[in-house]
Amino acid sequence: MLESFVYKSAPLKVVFGLSAKSEVRGEAEALDMKRALVLSTPEQAEMAEEISDLLGPTCAGIYPHATMHTPVDVTNAAMAHVASNAIDGLVSIGGGSTTGLGKAIAYRTDLPQLVLPTTYAGSEMTDMLGQTKDGIKTTVRDPRILPETVIYDVDFTLGLPAWLSGISGINAIAHAVEALYAPDGNPVLSLLAKDGIRALHTSLPRITDDPSDVEARTEALYGAWLCAMCLGASRVALHHKLCHVLGGSFDLPHAETHTVVLPHALAYNAPAVPRAMTALREVLDTETPAAELFRLAGRVGAKTALRDLGMPEDGIDKVVDITLANPYWNPRSLQSNAIREVVRAAWAGTCPDV
Ligand code: NAD
Repeated sequence: MLESFVYKSAPLKVVFGLSAKSEVRGEAEALDMKRALVLSTPEQAEMAEEISDLLGPTCAGIYPHATMHTPVDVTNAAMAHVASNAIDGLVSIGGGSTTGLGKAIAYRTDLPQLVLPTTYAGSEMTDMLGQTKDGIKTTVRDPRILPETVIYDVDFTLGLPAWLSGISGINAIAHAVEALYAPDGNPVLSLLAKDGIRALHTSLPRITDDPSDVEARTEALYGAWLCAMCLGASRVALHHKLCHVLGGSFDLPHAETHTVVLPHALAYNAPAVPRAMTALREVLDTETPAAELFRLAGRVGAKTALRDLGMPEDGIDKVVDITLANPYWNPRSLQSNAIREVVRAAWAGTCPDV
């Protein structure tokens, strides 16, 4: 039976498609940008040049210094650049690291943001910002952080290496899986979550086989967008908590960690979320969704054990302690011994049986 629910949608415009980047100037002008700053990581500087050319006179420069985990000193340097160049808008091209820098500046200035995502991480659909100072990552939520416009251009994802596409896509699936049992979930979010998971589950193996498969790339980017909407609209649970703790405690890589942890966090929550498991059985076309997500990781060539990402075995207790010291809401209560088993299974890389 349909239960009562609250549905809120984000005030954000999306332009999606092959070569959608051609819309960038019009979209920047629609946001009243006259002196836009294009942000990227050093590796994506060439893409930033391309966007700068498309922006024409609307572009006031490129700032290719975005850094993983949004360090506050990098943001401060960018803020000085924004002030001294009279920047009136931010155009971020890249993955979550670049989007993070744009959000960090917007949080401090309320400048409009136009984002062109090049991975499947999903930060562009949220009003959340994680930033790092003195080795500690903290998260803030604020309406100024949510980008105004997102252009999903499939072209920019064609060069994303197959292995990175696989883990980035599973990172996106994790957002949708947790939306299926979020305390603030609703039937509309569940629709987005199911179709997002379906799209990525079918397209990621095809991308592994042929990274230039435009149809699979389009499907994956569409799925990533749906999963990102789930992240932006619902609370996350044990899976995201474990990934935040692992990233913060052992500096483990973001998408790889999500890929390893997801099957184990889902297997733990499975007995408490029958409706989500029914949905996952349907979209993943399997009786054992957690095991299928583990198999998907192997299929796209990802590592499936935290020990292979560099986590030491004696770190397991630390992860359990930090997770339980300040837990997120979770559909199944968190018992220390059971969580230790979850972390141990993720560390060892054993395939769950649900
Ligand atoms: P990333 O932005 O660091 O990109 C990963 C790597 O891929 C980088 O080396 C980048 O240069 C490269 N890359 C990006 N696009 C490419 C392309 N098209 N072709 C080739 N190489 C490309 O990582 P990410 O996984 O996109 O994002 C992770 C970061 O985003 C983390 O810091 C995470 O905390 C944050 N994040 C935040 C939110 C949020 O809502 N605040 C949501 C998801 C992720």
